[in-house]
Amino acid sequence: MPMLDTVGPLSRRKPAPSPAGASVALKRFGALPMPALEWNTEVERDTAHLYERIKNVVPSVEWPFFAPYVRAINALKKERNAVILAHNYQTPEIYNCVADFTGDSLQLAREATKVKADIIVQCGVHFMAETAKVLNPQKTVLIPDLKAGCSLAEAITAEDVRLLRERFPGVPVVTYVNTSAEVKAESDITCTSSNALEVVESLGRDTVIMVPDQYLAKYVASQTKVKIIAWKGSCEVHERFTGDELELIRANDPTVQIVAHPECPPDVIAASDFTGSTAHMIDWVRKNKPKRVVLVTECSMADNVQAELPDVEFTRPCNLCPHMKRITLPKILDSLVHMREEVVVDPAIAAGARRAVERMIYLKS
Ligand code: SF4
Repeated sequence: MPMLDTVGPLSRRKPAPSPAGASVALKRFGALPMPALEWNTEVERDTAHLYERIKNVVPSVEWPFFAPYVRAINALKKERNAVILAHNYQTPEIYNCVADFTGDSLQLAREATKVKADIIVQCGVHFMAETAKVLNPQKTVLIPDLKAGCSLAEAITAEDVRLLRERFPGVPVVTYVNTSAEVKAESDITCTSSNALEVVESLGRDTVIMVPDQYLAKYVASQTKVKIIAWKGSCEVHERFTGDELELIRANDPTVQIVAHPECPPDVIAASDFTGSTAHMIDWVRKNKPKRVVLVTECSMADNVQAELPDVEFTRPCNLCPHMKRITLPKILDSLVHMREEVVVDPAIAAGARRAVERMIYLKS
């Protein structure tokens, strides 16, 4: 494997930025009254078609809590001219019942370039909302919980990238989208787990720096002749899986199929039948329709694919992302009522980040 080096933190960490600008969206659009949220026959009737989509993953006793929020959020989206983008790791009632567009980071970034609505509500983590804002500087982008962060995004700073460039002069920097806008702005191009190999090879260089996920970098290095200088970041959800636990599952059931995300450690990938981004994992299950499968990733993805493919049995393990789980129906409703929390990116940083993200998006659409 042509890995040259794995580099760790080089700069001092700064605290996360404060939610400046929250009142700008409120001034522009105003607050709305909080809708009534009781469960009654009218709500039951209006939301029955949505419950049908998730009935095999959400118990019927839970629906009377979710349904009033689902109905209120869908009505407010029309009133506000808003759209909801939801990542594959969002819970089934969000992913299936209020989202307008769903997907992995690359799919959501591409959808963000096509949005016609005035307001984007990002149901995902902060770097995803920042990416939506970077691609739509004139639109209002809201995230229902500003604390929805990411261990990968926190693993590297813009200063780290500048110091890496000093240490490896002339080597291009490929940055995973799971990073802040400041880090993207210091990069040559971004990538996602769907297109990382394609992005690295598109540069036509024999060496590239790839930040911040060491495991994605190792996976790409195993697939290419390009030498990769990696960074010591990792996803707190995917790094918890082990090859041993997967081998145990396979020993108990030799017919099970194991599908892993490339943010997992190498022994997990070695123990898997297929490795790919969340979008590629879903496509693989749709195409192969295995009897039993382990999706080695965040737990909600199995629920969302299970809702679509009830005949496939999804076996654990899975790990929850605490940041993704900060997004809930009550917070989405609050976001649309009170226009919070608005995502603000400094225009100069946004311009730099946009260049790196658009270079990736238009690489091959
Ligand atoms: S699953 Fe990992 S990479 Fe994705 S948001 Fe959570 S911590 Fe970040």
